[in-house]
Amino acid sequence: MNATIAAATYWDQYNGITHYNGETLNVFERLWAAWYAYMQNDVLATGIMSFVMHEVVYFGRSLPWIIIDSMPYFNKYKIQAGKIPTAAEQWHCTKMVLLSHFTVELPQIWVFHPMAVFFGMDTGVPFPPMWKIAMHIAIFFVFEDAWHYWTHRAMHWGPLYRSVHKIHHNYSAPFGLAAEYASPIEVMILGAGTVLGPVLWCAITGDLHVLTMYLWIVCRLFQAIDAHSGYEFPWSLHHFLPFWAGAEHHDVHHERFIGNYASSFRWWDFVLDTEAGPEAAKARRDRKLAKDAKKAKKAQ
Ligand SMILES: [Zn+2]
Ligand SMILES: [Zn+2]
Repeated sequence: MNATIAAATYWDQYNGITHYNGETLNVFERLWAAWYAYMQNDVLATGIMSFVMHEVVYFGRSLPWIIIDSMPYFNKYKIQAGKIPTAAEQWHCTKMVLLSHFTVELPQIWVFHPMAVFFGMDTGVPFPPMWKIAMHIAIFFVFEDAWHYWTHRAMHWGPLYRSVHKIHHNYSAPFGLAAEYASPIEVMILGAGTVLGPVLWCAITGDLHVLTMYLWIVCRLFQAIDAHSGYEFPWSLHHFLPFWAGAEHHDVHHERFIGNYASSFRWWDFVLDTEAGPEAAKARRDRKLAKDAKKAKKAQ
């Protein structure tokens, strides 16, 4: 990166970069490069930016759900009818979530940068092409979903459930803010699925840009908060992408405690026959009856 000026303001850095690289870098790339040049410390620059972004997106995405909860018009879309969280519940949840953000997620975010840089992560400009960012994020989604399925399923084993996962199941009718309402141990174990995928990818291929990591975290937060929203709309994503889990999938998990362990996709639960809810139970029964009938026919 050219033209970084020591001990200058952020906008001095921005203007310097624009002066020398205005032709080759777009405005986002210049804003980005100026931030890293201004901070003069990449770990700090990534740490602050990703933590602030995490908080803004977490609470920013939860806010529309809080507003929707307060509007009777939307009641008809609520999956567990009538189970609207109270203001006291939402406040209690916010405090717990903030506590785990500062005690567990902040250090996790902080160690990510040196770890990924060690494996060759890029923080510079220009940014990678959009197709590559999208491809990496898709890979991280698949990895995280598999990680989530198995660790979450393990957490439903008696002793682990009682000592760790029970806190997350405090709300049998979830709401957006409750996405990360969990024991710090759980936040650490499930959060590892979000961070480990990119680190492994970077270790294997040496091809990862920290911007991709930011966008991945934003997508993952949207996924987790929306899955806990408690609302199912005719325009919900899983109607268009049948393998997408969404709120309908995870809400049943909170209501019934058994089944639907994956986070983003439906394939693990489908293939391993751990789908939750009365419809899945009926499908399971139908499948068994069809199998039995087939067997009986063969035996004749
Ligand atoms: Zn669970
Ligand atoms: Zn949940």
